[in-house]
Amino acid sequence: MVGMLAGKVALITGAANGIGRETALLFAREGARVAAADLDLKGAEETAALIRGAGGEAAAFSVEVSDAEQVEAMVNETIVAFGRLDCAFNNAGIAPAHVGNNAKRMHEWSEEGFDRMIAVNLKGVWLCMKSEIARMLEAGGGAIVNTSSIAGLAGLPTSSAYVAAKHGVSGLTRTAGIEYAGDDIRVNAVCPGYIATDMTREVMSRRGNEILARVPARRMGEAREVAEMACWLCSDRASFVTGATYTVDGGYMAW
Ligand code: NAD
Repeated sequence: MVGMLAGKVALITGAANGIGRETALLFAREGARVAAADLDLKGAEETAALIRGAGGEAAAFSVEVSDAEQVEAMVNETIVAFGRLDCAFNNAGIAPAHVGNNAKRMHEWSEEGFDRMIAVNLKGVWLCMKSEIARMLEAGGGAIVNTSSIAGLAGLPTSSAYVAAKHGVSGLTRTAGIEYAGDDIRVNAVCPGYIATDMTREVMSRRGNEILARVPARRMGEAREVAEMACWLCSDRASFVTGATYTVDGGYMAW
């Protein structure tokens, strides 16, 4: 199989939907064998079935990324299924609306909502990296891409805990990039802008015109456009790239 990820095994979280699913499909087209993991096992199985239907190899796993035991099991099951782990895309995430804090300023957020946001969007990425890096150290290398956000680089009104979590992901990424550069493990982050997925449907219906007025490209991004960056960062073509955060945002952060 010829492709940017030929011969590699890739683990993707949040693979049931949106950016994660598109990335799983692209990675498989580029030659990777794919472990598609998600809280939504049915959706992850659909992603794996799409890959197999197109002639690729994939398995689906259930995971709650904020649970250390489940994350460790996901990484181990990937290695049992495919014999190795070369690439990981730590992408599962939730939005303020998922924790009952939609359109709320900082003082209005509930403590439960803040804690859940940090547990999934920040601790979840750390737990994934912790398990993945341990196995990559044993194997002698690997490449990790975390999904941060433009909210990992700048403030966004009414998204305080999301912004805090994504800034944390950017920070973990930079630090891991430094810590493991000598071990042939590259760690980078992709920072999507406004991408057309389930996650952005509600906010775009509420204030889409206002948001798009701030996007130089004057449109939302497609999940596959984020997948392309994740694919390149996981591939050997990005061999000198680590500890970096890459925007895929139609120019949003260039202002
Ligand atoms: P999405 O809602 O389509 O997909 C998110 C996936 O993550 C879902 O399949 C969901 O089941 C899974 N998930 C949620 N919580 C989980 C958990 N605790 N354990 C395991 N899986 C869980 O959203 P998306 O837009 O594809 O978002 C993917 C990532 O991209 C997220 O980290 C999100 O914060 C980030 N992001 C999205 C945008 C955007 O505009 N859509 C912008 C910047 C960053």
